[in-house]
Amino acid sequence: MIRRISRAVRVGDVTIGAGSPVSIQSMTNTYTRDVDQTVKQIEALVDAGCEIVRLAVPDSASAQALGIIKKRVKIPVVADIHYDYRLALESLKAGADKLRLNPGNIGGADKVKAVAREAASRGVPIRVGVNSGSLEKDLFAKYGGVTPEALVESALRSVEILENQSFKDIVIAVKSSDVTLSVSAYELLAKHTDYPFHVGITEAGTVYGGSIKSAVGIGAVLSRGLGDTIRVSLTGDPLEEVRCAREILQSLGLRRFGVELVSCPTCGRTSIDLIGLAERIEAYCKDIKTPLKVAVMGCVVNGPGESKDADIGVTGGDGKGVIFKKGEIFATMKEDELFPAFVQELEKMVGVT
Ligand code: SF4
Repeated sequence: MIRRISRAVRVGDVTIGAGSPVSIQSMTNTYTRDVDQTVKQIEALVDAGCEIVRLAVPDSASAQALGIIKKRVKIPVVADIHYDYRLALESLKAGADKLRLNPGNIGGADKVKAVAREAASRGVPIRVGVNSGSLEKDLFAKYGGVTPEALVESALRSVEILENQSFKDIVIAVKSSDVTLSVSAYELLAKHTDYPFHVGITEAGTVYGGSIKSAVGIGAVLSRGLGDTIRVSLTGDPLEEVRCAREILQSLGLRRFGVELVSCPTCGRTSIDLIGLAERIEAYCKDIKTPLKVAVMGCVVNGPGESKDADIGVTGGDGKGVIFKKGEIFATMKEDELFPAFVQELEKMVGVT
């Protein structure tokens, strides 16, 4: 995949853009002012693979809490600001690594100038987030609704407000809950700017449907070489957002995290409890950090090929199964011996003793 060349933006110790690995973001859904609960959720997000976390800052107590939270967590913290520029200033002073705001809704040029100046003095970038749900009325009227052109003009308008303050440490998002609209908007935006892109499908839905919608939408944008950081937005536990984001990046070969499981869908040829075996292996592999490809296959039709292609694989057949390691047959055994033997070999590969 040829990725768009974007400029680099530093968020704490993470680089967004300029060919850096596509980073994974999520957003807490605790009350930010509840420091302990928020830190606990961020730690769980970090364990799941989150690399940048965003916190809602709806009031001054949250901005102050952000400063305490930042000192207790290992990843960069982004302050999500709406309407009140003073909250942006407070968040910057508290140590936010990045701001997410819309320069058009924080109260005019003087206020944007104050925020841009403070952010620049601290080397803190700003993500301008255009969202189809909050498109400016004049653009809605001009384009007859929410269109890619309207989203892009809105984003570029926000960028221009910051650039007028000589601020260029910018990341852009043009999000919609409509997949094709989002993809077109990012494609169009790429023709106008080299700022890095934050990609997401906004208000994607609940965990199951939203993950699929996000995978299709974010995946479509990424597969065009666009996108420098992603956030999956789900109505659910934010950990699911991170898990989904990792699957998206791993599916496209953009990142490798832990185990990639290849398993067949089963059919009338399957003669072992393959679904049970695949689920047990998947659950076992969940916390393995070593990048490995693991195959769990039902029969000889596709099993040996996929198993040989994997670092370790199992192919079932007629109440027994064959384990492959690094492309070679390792052992043949009865069905009930497969899981323990498989785990034993897997543990050797990942260095568990
Ligand atoms: S690998 Fe075999 S059991 Fe699995 S779906 Fe293909 S034909 Fe069916």
